[in-house]
Amino acid sequence: MTDAPLKLFNSLTRSLEVFEPVHPGEARVYTCGPTVYNYPHIGNMRAYVFADVLGRTLSWKGLKLTHVINITDVGHLTDDADAGEDKMEKMAASQAQSIWDIAEHYKQAFWADVRALNIRQPAQWTVATDYVAQMIDFAKGIADKHCYELESGLYFDVSTVADYGRLARANTEEGEGRIEAVEGKRNAADFAIWRKTPPGETRQMEWDSPWGRGAPGWHLECSVMSGEVLGFPFDIHTGGIDHREIHHPNEIAQNQAHCCTNGLDDPRNSGAKVWMHNNFLVERSGKMSKSSGEFLRLQLLIDKGYHPLAYRLMCLQAHYRSELEFSWEGLGAALTRLKRMVMAVEPLKAVEAQPVAEHPKFAAALTTFDEAMTDDLATPVALTALDEALAVKKVDAGVKRAVIEEMDAVLGFNLFGLTRADLRIRPKSATITEGEIEAALARRKEARAAKDFATSDAIRDDLSAQGVDVMDGDPLGWEWKLS
Ligand code: AMP
Ligand code: ZN
Repeated sequence: MTDAPLKLFNSLTRSLEVFEPVHPGEARVYTCGPTVYNYPHIGNMRAYVFADVLGRTLSWKGLKLTHVINITDVGHLTDDADAGEDKMEKMAASQAQSIWDIAEHYKQAFWADVRALNIRQPAQWTVATDYVAQMIDFAKGIADKHCYELESGLYFDVSTVADYGRLARANTEEGEGRIEAVEGKRNAADFAIWRKTPPGETRQMEWDSPWGRGAPGWHLECSVMSGEVLGFPFDIHTGGIDHREIHHPNEIAQNQAHCCTNGLDDPRNSGAKVWMHNNFLVERSGKMSKSSGEFLRLQLLIDKGYHPLAYRLMCLQAHYRSELEFSWEGLGAALTRLKRMVMAVEPLKAVEAQPVAEHPKFAAALTTFDEAMTDDLATPVALTALDEALAVKKVDAGVKRAVIEEMDAVLGFNLFGLTRADLRIRPKSATITEGEIEAALARRKEARAAKDFATSDAIRDDLSAQGVDVMDGDPLGWEWKLS
């Protein structure tokens, strides 16, 4: 393996930077996690696939990784303004359920998707409601110099820190366009760090504070959890590109206030050295949005017969900073590619990995792989290097296994754990069982051996009527698929 230095794109400086850890030999990463008021859609999961590949790459480069992902179970409003309702409270009211049960249910659903996509467990999941006392302390510490109180809550005055909004390029781009209607705010961009419960109302989740009973603001939560667990400044903060506009600039402003430092010319004053953002997964029909009834959840893909790792592969076929358009055709192509990979790995399963010595047959692929991953996680190119390595013939199988294992540890497909059977998922709409299909195919084989083509054709037609395509001579060796 060549040893190229890892370069990452820092949204704060809008440039590629060689990664230099704050603590030598370590990498401390914070990822903004989901608001658990509903199922995550597959676009949300792209953010965690990205963060996972980042974490795997840091580990692969020999750094001791501490990755934290939070779970937002309070405080995230229905819009970025301060006047909206709390997403969690709103869902709890609409389902007439306890907010704590809602949070637990959707947290578990999120974790199921995390496992299905082979996203590694972070060192810690921080749950916002476990940190409310620390949030109040943090807010107390900055209140005098940086905040003011209104009837609806404690507000952060963004004019009290230098370079507010630099991450969003608010002064030069469109980022600033968010005037909203909280009377008495000093600046349009000021935001609530503590939201008081309106008189006469009760929230299911509320706490006492020096500013009255209420709940923390969403931005405060991430500042507190990241700083508490990783210590300021830490290395990398990640999230989806939408967070670059408001959530992260506000976190940065709070971090500056808390650390008593100003000015973002030194990125460390922002609380993290590097801020990274994945671009969006987009879908033309708009089905992805959580508010539109049926939306694109990972389970929907599985119900239609696509293995979840095909979606992981689809994500990695695009660079994380590019928009990715979802289509069923694209997902189908990714599934076929994954099947090919699993087929190519099959003969290596019985051998033991040899330590990867320099091997001329793999040198080019390994160099391509390293150069790609260290070039801001260029996974589309890294995948071609994996294909190249899988195609190497007439070579010691143990060496090949070691090379593939190394690449797979970074890309995260669990190629040696996956079987062809795993990848063949019955769509929910199919009624015939796998056992019935296999039995029919065995009868058909016998008929063909006996040259009884009438029976053989009849079995094939019968299967076809039940939605099963028989695939004689399939180059991948797949005998059937559900159409
Ligand atoms: P939320 O639960 O809304 O806070 O979102 C969880 C994560 O998903 C955040 O990092 C968002 O920035 C990210 N995200 C939301 N929509 C998409 C999308 N369509 N594609 C990629 N990431 C997204
Ligand atoms: Zn966050």
